Amino acid sequence: VQDKLAQLKQNTHNTVNAMLDTMALDLAAKVDAKIANGETIGLLEGIPFGIKDVYMVQGTLTTASSNLLKNYKAAYTATAIQNLLNAGAIPLVKENCDSFGHGSSSENTIFGAVKNAINPDLVGGGSSGGSAVNVAKNYTVFSIGGDTGGSVRQPAGYNNVYGLKPSYGRISRYGLMAYASSTDCVGPIAQSIEDIRIVLNVMSGKDIKDQTSYASAEISQAQLLNSEGIKTVGYFKNFIESPAIDPKVKADFLQAIEKIKAKGIEVKALDFFESETLVSTYYTLAMAETASNLSRLDGTNYGNRIEGDNLKETYSVTRSENFSEETKRRIVGGNQVLSQGFSDEIYLKGLALRDTISANFEDDFKNVDIILSPVTPNTPPKIGDSLKDPHAMYLSDAYTVGFSLGQLPTLTVPQGTATGLQITAAKHNDELVLKFANFLK
Ligand code: GLN
Repeated sequence: VQDKLAQLKQNTHNTVNAMLDTMALDLAAKVDAKIANGETIGLLEGIPFGIKDVYMVQGTLTTASSNLLKNYKAAYTATAIQNLLNAGAIPLVKENCDSFGHGSSSENTIFGAVKNAINPDLVGGGSSGGSAVNVAKNYTVFSIGGDTGGSVRQPAGYNNVYGLKPSYGRISRYGLMAYASSTDCVGPIAQSIEDIRIVLNVMSGKDIKDQTSYASAEISQAQLLNSEGIKTVGYFKNFIESPAIDPKVKADFLQAIEKIKAKGIEVKALDFFESETLVSTYYTLAMAETASNLSRLDGTNYGNRIEGDNLKETYSVTRSENFSEETKRRIVGGNQVLSQGFSDEIYLKGLALRDTISANFEDDFKNVDIILSPVTPNTPPKIGDSLKDPHAMYLSDAYTVGFSLGQLPTLTVPQGTATGLQITAAKHNDELVLKFANFLK
């Protein structure tokens, strides 16, 4: 733990958190004492992990990489993190991310851009960039990211590690700072499928503090080794034939498909919505939800308060000065789509489209066991490019946001290339995703 903390301090991927350092060293000493006493220790006991800085850990800074919460100390601990603590895992570090999860590059942060683990001129990906980079660099054994529209899967793909977005509700969201509540998911990032499985089991379960959470059965190692039940794989024709796809991403994907066929799996090309429809549906709903969720951050109960001449001005100055450009863009956009005169035309249309997209997935899963796609149409951009062109950044989420809207379990598998392979199964079928990833190895 000491060595890892020293390594972590030498890079810019992490937020400063002296309270967490002390906690980590205390917990490590307890595990050492147990070992010295000859006691047996559990599977996760003493294993160091990282936490995207959007999870509450009682008494420690929880900033969401934002100016607004730069001094905020959490009053309680998130359920997912508490489950890991109960299993003896040691939280080492809070990880740099796009503030409030708003972004796809981890540049929208007060702590400086996260650099890609493989090529430091490129972005680390976002929004859980610090988490993916820490795992790729071996600073943490696993990290807990958050995925609303791709934020675990995309940085995992850019840094060549595994990243799972479980089925919505499999892991409690209690204590994960809300971005878009209807798609927010807790997601582990790790170097192996086995690590993902173990961490997923520990975090999963019904939690009375999150009414959308549900009870699920543990996934055993034996289950993953058995590839029965995987016969047919589908992919979306228009994703692969789109002029927007990078030729290298396309070539890698087609190669993966050939490999799957060679293993005796039937592969079907499926029709699906255009990327623009998926991206605009997702951003309409995500912006509406974030505008609503972030309305509490006005400097009264939370946040870095900046005094104005009266209360209204205090709210206004606190929010204008402290939110980033990207967050303000989303709050303004979200409030617009929720306003009278616009909500029927835009917000309700978004909700209806989401239902159609989900129904489409249900139909697809009558014909295929797994849906495959690249994680992104593009390779990781250079640092600086995404900030210049937010619209291009939104379009880079084209292949991840649809599965978020469908609340499906979906995993990034590293391919040793510039973006990962994304494996998706029907809702609540998380074990099939892991099983298929194992089968592909
Ligand atoms: N890039 C997407 C967005 O900015 C997804 C982010 C996330 O999953 N937190 O909304």
